[in-house]
Amino acid sequence: MEQKKEINQFDIPFAKRTYLNNSNSRLLKKLLIFSPLIFILFSLTIIRLIREIGFEPLSNVNFQTERNQDHRILGHLPYKEIPKDKLVLIEPNIEVHVDMRESLLKMREEAKKDGIYLVFLSGYRSINLQNNIFYSIKSIRNQEAAERARVSAPPGYSEHSTGFAIDIGDATKRETDFETEFENTGAFKWLIKNAAKFHFKLSFNKNNKYIDYEPWHWRYEGSIDALKVFEISNK
Ligand SMILES: [Zn+2]
Repeated sequence: MEQKKEINQFDIPFAKRTYLNNSNSRLLKKLLIFSPLIFILFSLTIIRLIREIGFEPLSNVNFQTERNQDHRILGHLPYKEIPKDKLVLIEPNIEVHVDMRESLLKMREEAKKDGIYLVFLSGYRSINLQNNIFYSIKSIRNQEAAERARVSAPPGYSEHSTGFAIDIGDATKRETDFETEFENTGAFKWLIKNAAKFHFKLSFNKNNKYIDYEPWHWRYEGSIDALKVFEISNK
């Protein structure tokens, strides 16, 4: 056993051991010297990668946040109630924003000249009234909020509370009031052709993914106040 130990001790080549140690320390020194350079190169690569690949997902994230920040509820945007001093009565039970009175009445007059008789069905509606419409009809029809929201806005989310929305019917086809069939009336065809001249726009067309098509519901965008109100909706 003792002899074996001695052999083992002298058997290790001394030169070889120092050579190995030297090589390790040189490698370590090299690494220490070049480590800042390696770090810089690594950082630059990461920055380039972020710029090339990272920007697109980042902008998508921003876009998504922006979209979520429009505060829709069941597809409807929030709308404030019009200040009372901006409301005008244009006929019994129909109040609208003062900005759109002239244009709206002029549109009806022009339609009459073409043999089309427009009827105003609903203008300004208070948030309270909208509350009753949304919740009472919803319970009568035994519909869930999401289903109901396809045909009626939740309170605080109706264009009608701004005074800039008007529901229009055809005086010769009253059975189509608030019905999709209104789109087959002369009044609707006339509106599609002429409403833009009076700054009226169809709010909920067939492409709206949240809210059902409402051919009778038009909104006014002919004043700065109106444009501000519908800014987010038009984005
Ligand atoms: Zn409406």
